[in-house]
Amino acid sequence: MKKIEIDSSLYECDKNKYFQQVEAVLKGRLKKNRYRHTVLVAATSAALAMRYGIDEQKAYLAGLLHDVAKHYDDNDMLKLCKEYGLCLTDFEKENPFILHGPVGAIIAQSEFDIQDSDILNAIKNHTVGRADMSILEQIVFIADYIEPARNKAKNLRAIRKLAFENLDKCTLKILEDTLEYLRDNNRPIDASTKQTYDFYLKRR
Ligand code: GDP
Ligand code: FE
Ligand code: FE
Repeated sequence: MKKIEIDSSLYECDKNKYFQQVEAVLKGRLKKNRYRHTVLVAATSAALAMRYGIDEQKAYLAGLLHDVAKHYDDNDMLKLCKEYGLCLTDFEKENPFILHGPVGAIIAQSEFDIQDSDILNAIKNHTVGRADMSILEQIVFIADYIEPARNKAKNLRAIRKLAFENLDKCTLKILEDTLEYLRDNNRPIDASTKQTYDFYLKRR
């Protein structure tokens, strides 16, 4: 695995320059629409961070990198997991796309030199969530669903409003609609998605 030519020390002294370098690398790796989605998730995460009083630069960076492993196909993904020694569930073996979060976190750490565990967890858990997410994890999870270019999910208008009112309620609504969508379309449900839903339902 090759470390990318990004000067990590820029994060402390010149964040704009640092973000430009990360964006340039992502632009070269991801498809056009995926790159656009990535930048929109970053900006939406930063806006939510402002609303909920956490570091908006950190949120922007987590948003930028959340889909960094999205361009790998199923075979690549399984190969990478083996290489990294990840222990996979049956669901993950059968649906490798679900691994772009955990694999993305490893790439963010090994190639982009991200060491902040909250950012790494936000990348890792952005697709299925987990019980008791941090504010940053919830923000990236939500921003991924509501960024302005998204237009397919139902209730988007209400969910976008809810995102800026209550993180837990918004997380729960997204999970509820996702589970309903998966059931309606006969798609297999990862136990983690259900566990995350159950946690936020109980905490309501
Ligand atoms: P994206 O990477 O920006 O497209 O967004 P995500 O990382 O959230 O992945 C989105 C896809 O994962 C959506 O189509 C969800 O419906 C799907 N997804 C989330 N949880 C599950 C699950 O438990 N089972 C399946 N089959 N898909 C899921
Ligand atoms: Fe994703
Ligand atoms: Fe995404």
